[in-house]
Amino acid sequence: MENGKLIYKPIRMCVVCRQKFFKEELYRMQCRDNKLIKWQGIGRSFYICVNCIDNKRFVGYITKKCNLSKEEAKKQIFNFPFFTVNKKKEHT
Ligand SMILES: [Zn+2]
Repeated sequence: MENGKLIYKPIRMCVVCRQKFFKEELYRMQCRDNKLIKWQGIGRSFYICVNCIDNKRFVGYITKKCNLSKEEAKKQIFNFPFFTVNKKKEHT
């Protein structure tokens, strides 16, 4: 409580595992024109944690949310930038 400098970290929930994380630990995304994209600052968004980005349930979620076929949803998730980051991490 020093001078109101207490750092407030917002907490958000992962849409797949429903666990709570600090906002900065989650990926914020949205669907626009049937595309999975990084949140653009407007519109509805959702959060996903690192553990769930290759979860089957996330594919299901995206399928519904972006109104896509399962194959298309998988493709879009796979092409999302976080996937490259995640893969790199696993190798080191
Ligand atoms: Zn999660």
